[in-house]
Amino acid sequence: MHVSHGREPGRPSEQRTATFTGTVHLDLVMDAGDVTVNTVVFTPGARTYWHAHPGGQLLQVTGGRGIVASRGGQASIVGSGDLVWAEPGEEHWHGACQDSLLTHTAVSHGPTQWRGEVSEPDYTAAQQA
Ligand code: MN
Repeated sequence: MHVSHGREPGRPSEQRTATFTGTVHLDLVMDAGDVTVNTVVFTPGARTYWHAHPGGQLLQVTGGRGIVASRGGQASIVGSGDLVWAEPGEEHWHGACQDSLLTHTAVSHGPTQWRGEVSEPDYTAAQQA
C-alpha cells in the first residue's frame, strides 16, 4: 500500500525538454515503480513527442484544452474532466491546443518508450479535430 499526500515530498517539479516540444513541467504525485502518477502542465502549443507506454496510460484532464492523437488514428480535442486510456504499446502523443494551456494527471504503466517529435504540420492539422 502506498499512501500519497498529493505529491512526492522532496521531488521538485521538472521541466522536460528532451522529449517534449515547448514548455512542459511535470510534478511527481506518486512513484510506485511500475506505475508513476504525474501532474503535467503544458503551455499553449506544447506537446509530447510520439511515445508508447508498455502497460498503457490513463490521462485525466484537469484544466484547459488539449489534443490526444494515436498513430494512424483520429485526433481528439479534450477538456477538463475528460479521460483518455492509451492501450499498452499504442503510439500516441498529447499536448495543449495552440490557444490554451493543458493540465492533466497521467497514470503511466511501465517506462515510456519515446519516438520522434510530432511535426508542426501534424500538430497544426490536429487542431481541426
Ligand atoms: Mn502518453
